[in-house]
Amino acid sequence: TGVEHEQVIDVHERFYEFIRSFRDRSDSYKYRERIKQMITMGQKSLIVDYNDLYLFDNRLARLLIERPDEVLQQASEVVKEVVMTEAPDYAETIDRFYVRVRALPRVVPLRRLKSEYLGKLVMLEGILVRTTPVKEKIVKARFMHCTREQGCHRFDWPPEGELIGDILERPPACPICGSSGGTFRLLPEESKLIDWQRIVLQERPEEVPPGQLPRSIEVVLQDELVDSARPGDRISVVGIVRVRPDSVSKKRAVFDLYIEANHIEVSQKILEEVVITREDEERIRALARDPWVRKRIIASIAPAIYGHWEIKEAIALALFGGVPKITEDGVRIRGDIHVLIVGDPGTAKSQLLQYAARIAPRGIYTTGKGATAAGLTAAVIRDKTTGEYYLEAGALVLADGGVAAIDEIDKMRDEDRVAIHEAMEQQTVSIAKAGIVAKLNARTTVIAAGNPKFGRYLTNRTLADNINLPVTILSRFDLIFILKDRPNPEEDRKLARHVLEVHRETERIKPEIDPALLKKYISYARRYIRPRLTAEASKLIEDFYVEMRRMSSENPEGPIAITARQLEALIRLAEAHAKMALRNEVTREDAEAAIRLMKTFLESSGMD
Ligand code: ADP
Ligand code: ZN
Ligand code: MG
Repeated sequence: TGVEHEQVIDVHERFYEFIRSFRDRSDSYKYRERIKQMITMGQKSLIVDYNDLYLFDNRLARLLIERPDEVLQQASEVVKEVVMTEAPDYAETIDRFYVRVRALPRVVPLRRLKSEYLGKLVMLEGILVRTTPVKEKIVKARFMHCTREQGCHRFDWPPEGELIGDILERPPACPICGSSGGTFRLLPEESKLIDWQRIVLQERPEEVPPGQLPRSIEVVLQDELVDSARPGDRISVVGIVRVRPDSVSKKRAVFDLYIEANHIEVSQKILEEVVITREDEERIRALARDPWVRKRIIASIAPAIYGHWEIKEAIALALFGGVPKITEDGVRIRGDIHVLIVGDPGTAKSQLLQYAARIAPRGIYTTGKGATAAGLTAAVIRDKTTGEYYLEAGALVLADGGVAAIDEIDKMRDEDRVAIHEAMEQQTVSIAKAGIVAKLNARTTVIAAGNPKFGRYLTNRTLADNINLPVTILSRFDLIFILKDRPNPEEDRKLARHVLEVHRETERIKPEIDPALLKKYISYARRYIRPRLTAEASKLIEDFYVEMRRMSSENPEGPIAITARQLEALIRLAEAHAKMALRNEVTREDAEAAIRLMKTFLESSGMD
């Protein structure tokens, strides 16, 4: 072990010195001030930036990583001492102060977390996929000791300065009478309890190697950390790696790693995981100056798939999205464009969806059944081994801020059929079951595909008849496309030539724009571009909407009722069209493109 080569450090003294003397760039005593603030705010945690500690004393900082239990225990005592001198009354009311560490220099990928990290402090990043309800854990137990000779008396366990770990063991002997005989009875209502919760952290979808399942790890939260993040949140966790048996039976020699959290941060910025460098930005800007940029983007979507230009265009617009708005009275209007493709088998629906998920920032490809028990939205699930209930996020929550490509959406679970309405319009998922009540974010674009109910699309039936989805869900899609696979010699020959060419090429067919760059381009637009409607574009959309309403009133049997939803859809599509070229204004041209797509949708769904 490397420890014996280390010089002995007086952790207590060094940490005290760090708090007392560390000054930041603006020359202020950062941690003395943080402690003062902690007192005024009535908090009990001091947050330390790892880098500050490293600058102050790199040996102490390294020791914190190597032996966190010891260093954090000392650090907590130091904070208590400092608070004692500053505000003795306040210090008396707090049992334990915490030192929480943020921003370690290195993130350990979830896949790399091995037993060599046992007992060490690590930082992990991922999506919170599951939480259990809050429980209470004993940190200081009160026992009643009774013997025939001495009668009964109470004592606290473990002794001052020590805390209970994961297992509450019977004290070996009574600290009052010294006897190990008699009976020891735990008094839970007189013991000291803290909040306790288990969560599951999972690799972010973009980190999972293609074709593999995402890895996950359990994280234990205590005290103030409890409920500090919700399923679907992207978080970074600093914590100590621990083990416990992988099952209830104590005799098994197989163990699971888990993390005891020291600090948690919820990532505020959506899309920050796609890194855009200065050079990337220049390439993105150069691409946007090309007058053909939109055509090139559309042509870059699933280039191996022949035709389907309008669907590719719709997918492109969905990837860019419109501009979300919040009205004065606080109502959120989504910017996300939802697209549905209903079509005969073998018409490349799955291929298109998979491609869309690949180039979308925060893209997830899943099927209507969902990849996990949580399905498309969220679920309260009962663990078979422990009997414990937990809340797990489904695909739309995990892809919050991104795109969920849902194949075979007609096969979704009944629970999702209910919950997906709220997810697609209000962009939240509410759940209340088995004592778990939560509202999760699902600001997610849905690009979905479904198979016709009768095997093939029947032209003499309506759209709603052809797909096993209620009209209430259909009406939440901004655009719906119908793909009919009918023989057409001319088209068939072209498709055959295209597919044969793809197969002849030894390399895969090259898209116009490299997928990695396109993904960055989309991220950039979603992050920075907020186009505004010009008067001219508004007028065009307004006129078209009024005309649509008039026509649909003449044809009340029409498949889709024209409502203000289609008006909002037109605005979003026009905005997305402007975003595609990184423009800040929605022009006449953008409005025309939106109208053209809407017309295609209405005609193909049987409005004509
Ligand atoms: P679906 O999900 O609609 O049933 P798939 O995406 O599984 O269809 O496509 C079936 C196969 O047919 C795939 O290998 C796909 O590449 C091919 N295919 C279908 N339509 C086209 C097309 N227009 N261009 C190229 N390949 C196509
Ligand atoms: Zn005793
Ligand atoms: Mg398919």
